[in-house]
Amino acid sequence: MIIVLKPNLPKADENLVLKEIRRLGYKPHIMRGVARTVIGAIGDEAQHPSLESLRVLPQVESVTPVQKRFKLVSREAHPQDSTIRVGKDVVIGGPEVVVMAGPCSVESETQLMTTAEAVAKAGAKILRGGAYKPRTSPYEFQGLGVKGLKLLAKARKATGLPVITELLSEDHVDQVAEYADILQIGARNAQNFQLLIAAAKTGLPILLKRGLSMKIEEWLLAGEYVLAHGNRHVLFCERGIRTFETYTRNTLDLAAVPIVKKESHLPVVIDPSQGGGRADLVAAMCKGAVAMGADSLLIEVHPNPKEAWSDGAQQLSLEGFSKLMGELKPLIAAVGRK
Ligand code: PEP
Ligand code: MN
Repeated sequence: MIIVLKPNLPKADENLVLKEIRRLGYKPHIMRGVARTVIGAIGDEAQHPSLESLRVLPQVESVTPVQKRFKLVSREAHPQDSTIRVGKDVVIGGPEVVVMAGPCSVESETQLMTTAEAVAKAGAKILRGGAYKPRTSPYEFQGLGVKGLKLLAKARKATGLPVITELLSEDHVDQVAEYADILQIGARNAQNFQLLIAAAKTGLPILLKRGLSMKIEEWLLAGEYVLAHGNRHVLFCERGIRTFETYTRNTLDLAAVPIVKKESHLPVVIDPSQGGGRADLVAAMCKGAVAMGADSLLIEVHPNPKEAWSDGAQQLSLEGFSKLMGELKPLIAAVGRK
């Protein structure tokens, strides 16, 4: 930690700060300038109280961490891109831009099978579908639960597509892990650390959505929980953040793509469906995401969006999805990917 003292501080005040640093269990190193003194405090923050408390001292101007708070997710820890294998032969984070697609919610066998077959045919590599849905109102469709998971397994068998589905609670970890190839942690649970730890322990890849009001550092630290508990298979998924804008449901933060790619070795996924809340924006957002270096796209697709049980306004039709996949092809090639 770097502690900058207020200018022209009497020696007695300087000593007071040094004493406090030692009391907290750290070793101070002093650098004296013309008007100001800077102190480097050395020690293991996990074993001692935080030096942040020094901020309240009247002698202290600023307290700045030297190291990033996230370690295992950081590119410093692992300079090469990490790749994450899903199922037998899908790899995210490599040369291929992997498209995950499917309905917001699993509604019925016909709805899921029709969608799964259509998205597979159009080139999607992973099937999405919510069995447990985090709905804003308790009176809205909450998902089919285990019946939905069984339908996802059936669709995987029929199409060969691995499955991603959301996990809402620690109580469901074992059940969802039995059916899913990727566990989705939703925006509303992105800082539910006990859930992240329980999900990490399954060893399955974890797609971690960015929380509605989460800073990028907080999102990376949430991912750090998963790695710190022995699971290095994390996908960071930007899905829009809450802003004052009302034209869109959320504001998709595409700058998060190069930022997370720079800060972390882990793959970045863009969800343009929750990102804008509007089907008419999905294609443009996907194109922007590919151009900015996203490793994967998570797209909601429904055979009849107007009759969807959740998120109807943002889901693409089967034809819309197939058209989008055709449009993405040259763009993906133009950025040097497959
Ligand atoms: C979803 O993917 O359908 C969903 C609910 O996502 P989010 O957690 O990003 O809102
Ligand atoms: Mn949805």
